[in-house]
Amino acid sequence: MRSILLTFVLVLYWPLSVSNAELPRLPTYRAPIVYEVKVSQKLEWQWVSVGKVKITAYCANCSVCDTGWRTADTTYADYKKGIVAADKSVPFGLQLSIDGLDDVVYTVRDRGQKVQGTHLDVLMKSHWTARKWGVQYRDVWVWKQVEVETREYIPTTRN
Ligand SMILES: [Zn+2]
Repeated sequence: MRSILLTFVLVLYWPLSVSNAELPRLPTYRAPIVYEVKVSQKLEWQWVSVGKVKITAYCANCSVCDTGWRTADTTYADYKKGIVAADKSVPFGLQLSIDGLDDVVYTVRDRGQKVQGTHLDVLMKSHWTARKWGVQYRDVWVWKQVEVETREYIPTTRN
């Protein structure tokens, strides 16, 4: 007798419960996007300015310039190769660009007794062209590896 009464009460109460459709519309909750910043160092080749440099010129196989057909690093002294003499502190093979002499990428391949400090001596076509050049101060850029910082943003969802 008691169990029958309980069933009756439950059935009667059912339609009164609130259905989902009657709930007010609420904005959907979105978790904020949190970015994880990954900083990494990378080596990159770049033209780096070294400022104004004293530029003189010389020619190959010349008694006045005191040169033969070979440079200090034993390369054949062909002016078309873009050969430059630099101070002993500058390593052979270093590539550089001289303002106003833009057609060629110059390479340090030679040395000179008078080439010291911030001074470059450019191998030119003839003694006459070298004389004509004289002494000039030009902007120089060096091709070298530079440490570059890169930032990567990785999205992570935090609850
Ligand atoms: Zn000469």
